[in-house]
Amino acid sequence: MAKLYFRYGAMNSGKSTALLQAAYNYEERGQHVLLAKPVIDTKDADSISSRLGMSRPVDFLIRPDDDVRALFAAQRARVRRDSAALIPDASVDVACLLIDEAQFLTREQVDDLLRIVVLDGVPVLAYGIRTDFQTQAFPGSRRLLELAHTLEELKTICRCGRKALFNARLVGGRFVFDGDQVAIDELSADRVTYESMCAECYLHESGGRLG
Ligand SMILES: [Zn+2]
Repeated sequence: MAKLYFRYGAMNSGKSTALLQAAYNYEERGQHVLLAKPVIDTKDADSISSRLGMSRPVDFLIRPDDDVRALFAAQRARVRRDSAALIPDASVDVACLLIDEAQFLTREQVDDLLRIVVLDGVPVLAYGIRTDFQTQAFPGSRRLLELAHTLEELKTICRCGRKALFNARLVGGRFVFDGDQVAIDELSADRVTYESMCAECYLHESGGRLG
């Protein structure tokens, strides 16, 4: 039975690397996968890049108003059509849908992921950050935590050696605890960085604030 997986972690926990590795594992067995991501991520707009240097283009981008199930159905039909033209007797299908930056999906789009899994019978692996720099769940992540059959945490380490839980934001090298959930201001983009932190270090830097 197909399942909806949410593989979540703090920033820099290797989510894109894990996604590309999962895609490779499917393809190594001769199976076909589809890769997608929301458009809100401005870096490498139409590809998935890991910090280790691997990168590959997505099959489709998801805009905030998009019907994800319809987009998926169109891509699935394309895969079947292309492979039928190549090998007429083979019944090739999509083995898995992989989604990067899933925290930026809307609640309705995550609902669609569950429909793709249950009604269309295709597993979905969604990778994303659980919470923003103010320790609040992103909308897509909150819905994935509610709906996913399987939750898997991808771990990374705080500067103190504990497991990182949160993502602290720095602007020009200084910690900030106020601002928009997504810092996409082009002018400040190169000045905004994040540090994955444990709860102890986060509370120390924030003076006890949690959002
Ligand atoms: Zn720490």
